[in-house]
Amino acid sequence: MKTIHVKEIIENVKEMCIEANHYLTDDMKQALKQSEKKEKSPLGKQILAQLEDNLKIAAEDMIPTCQDTGMAVIFIEIGQEVYIEGGILTDAVNEGVRQGYVEGYLRKSVVKDPIFRENTNDNTPAVIHYDIVAGDQIKIVLAPKGFGSENMSRIFMLKPADGIEGVKNAILTAVKDAGPNACPPMVVGVGIGGTFEKCALLAKKALTRSVNEYSPISYISELEEELLKKINQLGIGPGGLGGSTTALAVNINTYPTHIAGLPVAVNICCHVNRHCVRVL
Ligand code: SF4
Repeated sequence: MKTIHVKEIIENVKEMCIEANHYLTDDMKQALKQSEKKEKSPLGKQILAQLEDNLKIAAEDMIPTCQDTGMAVIFIEIGQEVYIEGGILTDAVNEGVRQGYVEGYLRKSVVKDPIFRENTNDNTPAVIHYDIVAGDQIKIVLAPKGFGSENMSRIFMLKPADGIEGVKNAILTAVKDAGPNACPPMVVGVGIGGTFEKCALLAKKALTRSVNEYSPISYISELEEELLKKINQLGIGPGGLGGSTTALAVNINTYPTHIAGLPVAVNICCHVNRHCVRVL
């Protein structure tokens, strides 16, 4: 049994909020650089270069990569041999988010009630997803999610007979409808299977996978490659101003589902696909 004090969780979550909002992961930076080299439109190339400059300035001058510093989405894997000391885990995570957004001067984008819309002024509560796993560690993945792209995300409850073509069509429809509103180049997270809520979660988690990594399931990795090619032929381009770089990656997760259904969720992220990972 390992004991982890809530103070350690608060400190780490606080630092992660600040880190994720100022630095993109290396795979995202590389993908932007490579796409700039390959981009066919001169304007598209220019926009990609500006996005890279923006990342450089953000890291050097400690300015967030985007003014929308997102709602904090957090995946936590808790080893079942971990004992949390000193308080409640969910409270500690929210305290970390509060300190990170207040002390890091990050925009507070969360409202208390979806209709009355009073700002909570500290970006809490976070959206937290827990998984109990084997072992004596806690893995925290923190992914601040901007809503320009979140608003463009979709769920399709397809019929089993729609098959793989129906899945492709759903993903392309979501990307086409998103167009410039998702601040392209995008990363497209997809969940296939499960239930209504499970496929949305699969899609969200897919966004935290490296953009260089393919699904270990061979027909799914082929699907990821095929869809990336098709999405980049849509011509939406960087900033939605035309070009051959509409998406940097399509990451798909799957799960068993019911005999009567084929749920597909498409969670779109913009070019600031932010996340950071720590293991305690
Ligand atoms: S969608 Fe992304 S890039 Fe666009 S405003 Fe929101 S966080 Fe920023």
